[in-house]
Amino acid sequence: MRRTALVTGITGQDGAYLAKFLLEKDYKVYGLIRRSVRHAFENLEYLGVDREIEYLNGDMTDESSLIKAVHQTRPDEVYNLAAQSFVGASWEQPHLTTQVNAIGVLNLLEAVKLHAPRARFYQASTSEMFGNSGREGLQTEDTPFHPRSPYAIAKLYAYWIVVNYRESYAMYCVNGILFNHESPIRGKEFVSRKVTDGVARIKLGLNERLHLGNLDSQRDWGFAGDFVEAMWRMLQQPEPKNYIVATGETHTIRELVEVAFRRVGIEDWEPHVFIDPAFKRPAELYTLRGDNSLAQRDLNWQPRVRFKELVEMMVDADLKRVEAEIASGRRPTGG
Ligand code: NDP
Ligand code: GDP
Repeated sequence: MRRTALVTGITGQDGAYLAKFLLEKDYKVYGLIRRSVRHAFENLEYLGVDREIEYLNGDMTDESSLIKAVHQTRPDEVYNLAAQSFVGASWEQPHLTTQVNAIGVLNLLEAVKLHAPRARFYQASTSEMFGNSGREGLQTEDTPFHPRSPYAIAKLYAYWIVVNYRESYAMYCVNGILFNHESPIRGKEFVSRKVTDGVARIKLGLNERLHLGNLDSQRDWGFAGDFVEAMWRMLQQPEPKNYIVATGETHTIRELVEVAFRRVGIEDWEPHVFIDPAFKRPAELYTLRGDNSLAQRDLNWQPRVRFKELVEMMVDADLKRVEAEIASGRRPTGG
């Protein structure tokens, strides 16, 4: 029988890559979407999978809509990717972030417990939960958590409630502790895409400068297309466990900026970057670098795309997109 998956956050970056991956494995994919005046299917369209998904209405903050969605679909696998996913915005909207990223997960677990207790449940956990912990800047599954943003604190509640449902009700629930992962459809508020889109606009003469915050923090950046495969592998194991998914390499924002500008032939990038205090965080995470050995061993998973290739892929995609905007006469936006 065809396996079924219910994916929340289907319209986001990971939702689109995961939907593509699951469809290629012949899953029936249900996607939860929230009510909106205009639906944003552009990520799914970009990957060419928007028409192959069956959509259901619902919101993580509305338990009854989740109960209905699970009851209607009775999925074999549930991937909870929905979130207020931007750390920066979580200081501005801490209540909303908590409702969606913490209580929303409890709502979905309850719905699954009620109507699909044998479903396998994936929770999108995050390296942000570690804060600045980790010996020599390396985080493992055993590194103590010390979240430093309302986003990370809400995700930590979600992490523990998922573990608790596994321990209390013998449900197959896992946390994928994913480090930053990017792609040509990453949201433009995140630094990777902000830089690659900004560099494309500077190269094509639409902008002069890029406003950025802290260039010295370091991130372990991987490719979303690689990371969604690890999510699926976590749900195919004999026992549920939490896993770090990371590349094991770390780079500064400055290196990201350099690689992106170099891709379009600009070596002297500093005149194009303005350090704007508005983009500095009230509490920063200095270095993230994940130890992915458990995922390599149990899941037989490895990242394929490395840092330079990832940044160049994103710059190339943004150049194409901005060129198309110019050619179509549409007023270019963003940056
Ligand atoms: P995106 O921001 O691209 O996507 C977030 C998704 O959540 C969107 O589909 C959005 O829908 C949906 N959503 C937001 N609020 C609600 C709500 N109240 N009810 C239902 N759906 C909602 O995030 P990513 O794809 O990058 O990330 C996926 C998950 O992984 C998130 O949980 C994120 O926190 C987590 N994560 C991501 C990392 C990364 O580097 N990308 C790293 C570690 C964890 P809409 O289109 O309507 O806004
Ligand atoms: P995060 O790791 O989930 O917070 O992902 P982001 O891409 O939002 O931020 C990664 C790092 O880039 C953080 O250390 C930010 O402080 C830093 N950064 C520097 N300038 C910017 C900026 O202009 N926007 C964002 N989003 N981050 C920036």
